[in-house]
Amino acid sequence: MSKSRLTELLPLNLPLPPELEMWRKALLRTLPSPVTGELTLFAGEPLKVIVAFDQEGAEVLLPMQESAMSSVSRHKPVPQGKILLATGTVEQLQRLVGETIALRIKSFRECACCGRRVPQELLGSLNGAPACRNCLQGRRFLF
Ligand SMILES: [Zn+2]
Repeated sequence: MSKSRLTELLPLNLPLPPELEMWRKALLRTLPSPVTGELTLFAGEPLKVIVAFDQEGAEVLLPMQESAMSSVSRHKPVPQGKILLATGTVEQLQRLVGETIALRIKSFRECACCGRRVPQELLGSLNGAPACRNCLQGRRFLF
């Protein structure tokens, strides 16, 4: 049995249905940059939204983190919904992505030092007040 024959049997890099690939391309134009990933898109710096494509459609996930006071930052995306190619439209997908980004930005908290709004996972605590990593590093603050 030849090697190429074997790789043909493996469902690696299965291409998306053409219409779904169009959704992905349309989304790539509107997502906040930078965008990394191929079938699962991670958009924004700090991360604002995750969109995971499969053969059936696209799932939108809200990047989430546990409490600000925890020293361990755990990233646990929360599914916001899945738009199926069979029953949904790219407009529905774009709307869901927009809502998820708005939700994410709303969860950002203000740094007590510099006033920048940052995701909770980038916030530490300085004398009991929320402070971003930049400010903490500037002060050589040790956790
Ligand atoms: Zn700061």
